[in-house]
Amino acid sequence: KKILAIETSCDETAAAIIENGTTILSNVVASQVESHKRFGGVVPEVASRHHVEQVTKIIEQALEEAQLKPADLDAIAVTEGPGLVGALLIGVHAAKAMAFAHGLPLIGVHHIAGHIYANQLVRPMNFPLMALVVSGGHTELIYMEEDGRYETIGMTRDDAVGEAYDKVARTLGLPYPGGPHIDRLAHEGEAVQTFPRSWLEKESLDFSFSGLKSHVLNVVHNQKQRGEEICVENIAASFQESVIDVLVTKTRRAVDTYQVKQLVVAGGVAANKGLRAALEKEFAEEIELSIPPLNLCTDNAAMIGAAAYDLLKKNQFADWSLNGRPGLEL
Ligand code: ATP
Ligand code: MG
Ligand code: FE
Repeated sequence: KKILAIETSCDETAAAIIENGTTILSNVVASQVESHKRFGGVVPEVASRHHVEQVTKIIEQALEEAQLKPADLDAIAVTEGPGLVGALLIGVHAAKAMAFAHGLPLIGVHHIAGHIYANQLVRPMNFPLMALVVSGGHTELIYMEEDGRYETIGMTRDDAVGEAYDKVARTLGLPYPGGPHIDRLAHEGEAVQTFPRSWLEKESLDFSFSGLKSHVLNVVHNQKQRGEEICVENIAASFQESVIDVLVTKTRRAVDTYQVKQLVVAGGVAANKGLRAALEKEFAEEIELSIPPLNLCTDNAAMIGAAAYDLLKKNQFADWSLNGRPGLEL
């Protein structure tokens, strides 16, 4: 079965064609990052306008790269939420138009389900599994007993980890999005200062990154006031060390509590080299560890097509009332 998937929840306009939830026939991503850079973050109106301009072209490109016609497709899938409402709407309307015009069933996909199912494009998902979701808007531990069943056992109480990366990067004067820059600089520096870790209550699987973020802001501010030279590399290294320590420790706790067969990592921050290495060191010898390649960690439509296949198999189709739902829950 071939699914055309569309993703427009944030600042990537993306379309992909996925066969049987596992094989990528095409995967096109148009990033708007250059347009948002000068604002230091995603501007919703700018994102919507870009999606409107791009979405039809990107869909056509996905069909062309797969060498398929709409008549060859079995369904149209689209991210229905969460995300920016104006951005989501563009994808949803494009998907509805395609489905209506070609008489195809429509499937609404949760963006985070997509991030998790990106792993299915790399290797089979092996249940029960634990998913560590680390992205721009989410930091969660999700237990999955089977396809399509999600139990959130831990989540951030304030900032998402990607958000903390981007805010710290901004403080350090790095361009948006800052995650990849901090990652790179952290490897050039040394964690000479130990930054705080928020463990929360004993045994807690929740996260908190706003304290760490404020700590970095204070350190930088104080050093500037004293007229000291700021070593961006070392601050990046201390910050990243703290983040990774907390993520790995909480994931360890979750994996030990829920006897799982597989640990899957998902979301944009899963592209982080330091995190990937730390998770491999901690888990690879003991449990099946799955981390998608970098281009499937950050936003894309291939992951939406992968997640949609399970819904297709279960005949869980959307009707014409499908809408963008910015606060959609998993
Ligand atoms: P969500 O998926 O929660 O709705 P989003 O779609 O905006 O949010 P993603 O595209 O999954 O988020 O991830 C983007 C985030 O990943 C940004 O915060 C970015 O800085 C971060 N990121 C990307 N690469 C890296 C990296 N190498 N190290 C750390 N963070 C990274
Ligand atoms: Mg993005
Ligand atoms: Fe995302």
